[in-house]
Amino acid sequence: LAQRLQDASLLRQQAFFNGHWQGALNGEMLPVTNPSTGEVLCTIPALGAKETEQAIAFADAARKSWAKTPNAQRAMLLEKWHQLILDNTDDLAAIMTAEQGKPLAEAKGEVLYGAGFVKWFAEEARRIYGDTIPAPSDDRRILVLKQPVGVAAAITPWNFPIAMITRKVAPALAAGCPIIVKPSELTPLSALALIELAQRAGIPSGVLQIVTGLPKEIGETLTNSRTVRKISFTGSTRTGQLLMQQSADSIKRLSLELGGNAPLIVFDDANLDIAISGVMMSKFRNAGQTCVCANRILVQRTIYPRFVARLLEEVAKLKVGDGFADGSTIGPLINAAAVSKVNSHIEDALSHGAELLTGGISNGNGTFVAPTVLGYVTSAMRIAHEETFGPVAPLFIFDTEDEAINMANDTPYGLGAYFFTEDIRRAWRVGESLEFGMVGFNTGSVSLEVAPFGGIKLSGVGREGSRYGIEEYLESKAFHFGSL
Ligand code: ADP
Repeated sequence: LAQRLQDASLLRQQAFFNGHWQGALNGEMLPVTNPSTGEVLCTIPALGAKETEQAIAFADAARKSWAKTPNAQRAMLLEKWHQLILDNTDDLAAIMTAEQGKPLAEAKGEVLYGAGFVKWFAEEARRIYGDTIPAPSDDRRILVLKQPVGVAAAITPWNFPIAMITRKVAPALAAGCPIIVKPSELTPLSALALIELAQRAGIPSGVLQIVTGLPKEIGETLTNSRTVRKISFTGSTRTGQLLMQQSADSIKRLSLELGGNAPLIVFDDANLDIAISGVMMSKFRNAGQTCVCANRILVQRTIYPRFVARLLEEVAKLKVGDGFADGSTIGPLINAAAVSKVNSHIEDALSHGAELLTGGISNGNGTFVAPTVLGYVTSAMRIAHEETFGPVAPLFIFDTEDEAINMANDTPYGLGAYFFTEDIRRAWRVGESLEFGMVGFNTGSVSLEVAPFGGIKLSGVGREGSRYGIEEYLESKAFHFGSL
C-alpha cells in the first residue's frame, strides 16, 4: 500500500492521543485486511479501557481552552484541515480502497463528500447564534447562550471510513468540544490518515484523539464515563441499543444513526429513466453497503415488465472487481460474514418463490458478490424485513398508492425512503405520508452535507450535517438577568 501513496507518512499505524502517536499499553495489535485480496495490510494497536481513560483525561484537560478559543479561530483550523484533505485526496482514496474495498473513483468521491462536512462546519462555527427572549417584566432580561456540551466521542463504521468521521468530528470541533474517535477496527487507516492531516492543520493536543482497538472495552469506558457528555454513533441498531443502555447511568446525550430498511417506490406515472438511475444510485453504491440503500423496490404492477427490462439492462453494465482495477463499479463486500448474509437472503427469497432475474448466490469468489435482481418478492421473505447490505435488488409489486405507502411504512426502521412519480399532487401526499427521516422524490440520493441526515424509530435519534448537525454538540443555557 505504501508504494501507492505519494506521501507514505499518511499511513499511520498507531493510535493518537494528546498530540502523540502511541501503541497499546500491553503491546497488543490487531490486523487490518484488504477485503478484496485477504492480504493483511498492517497491524494497529488494540487499545482497551486503560488507554481510553487516558484519552478522556486528556480531552477533559483540553476542554476549557478549546471552548474559549474564538469561533473564528476554530473555523480557520477546520479550513486548513479541509484544504489538506483536498490536497491529499488521491492518497486518502487509495488507503480507503485498500482497507474497505470500494472502487477508487468511489473512494475519491467519498473523500470529497467527507471534506464537505469539514468545510460546512468551518462555516457554521461562525454562526452559533443564541437567542434573546422577551421578558415578562421590565426588570428582567432573558438570553439563551449556546455552549459546547463538553467532551464528545464518535464511534464509526467501516462503510464510509472518512465521511462518517468528518461529519461527527467537524461539528464537534466547530462547537468547541474535544472529541475522541473510535473508528471501525476494519477501516482504521483512513481514520488515522485524517488525524495526521488534522495534526498538520494545527488542531491542538487533546482536542482530537483516536483510539483504535477493542470495541466492547472502549465502548464501555466511553459510555460509563461522566466526563464524556456526548456520544455520536453510526452503526447497527443492535450496537446502538447497547450504547444507549450503557449510557443511561451517565445520562449522556446521544446521536444514533442506525440501520434502515429503505423502500423505493416506482409509480406507473414515473419517468422511467429517472427512476432507474435513482435505483442504480441508491441500490448499488458502495456495493449496496449503505444504511440508506434501497432495500425494498416497490413497483406498480402496470409498469413492472418494462421496469424489469430496463433495470436488467443497467445492472448488466455493472462491473464487479478489485477497487484498484480499471472500470470496477462494484468492489468486494467487507468480509465473509457479509457475503453469507447476502447469500442467505437470496436463498430464503428463492425458497419462498422469488424469481431470480440475474446474479444469484455467490460461491467460491471470495468476498465478491454478483449484482442480483429478484422478482416477485413478498413480505413473507427475510429480505423484506432485514437490511441486506449487499448488491441485491428485491422487486415487490403493488397496485394502489395507499398500498405502496402502507408497504413502505411497514417496518420498524425509518431512515431513508425514495419514490418516483411525475404527479406533483401525489408527490406531496406520498412525501408527507412516508415515516422516514429522509425522503428522496425523483432522486436516489439524500446524503449531502447541507441537509440533515438521520432517522426515526429504530433507525436512531439526532441529525448530522446541515445547521441542525451542530446542535447535537451544543447546550442551550437560559441566562436570566434579574433586578435590573
Ligand atoms: P456493523 O454491523 O455495521 O459493523 P457495528 O454496530 O457492529 O455495525 O459497528 C459499528 C461501530 O461500532 C464499529 O466502530 C464497531 O467497532 C463499534 N462497536 C461494535 N460493538 C461495539 C460495542 N459493544 N461497544 C462499542 N462499540 C462497538
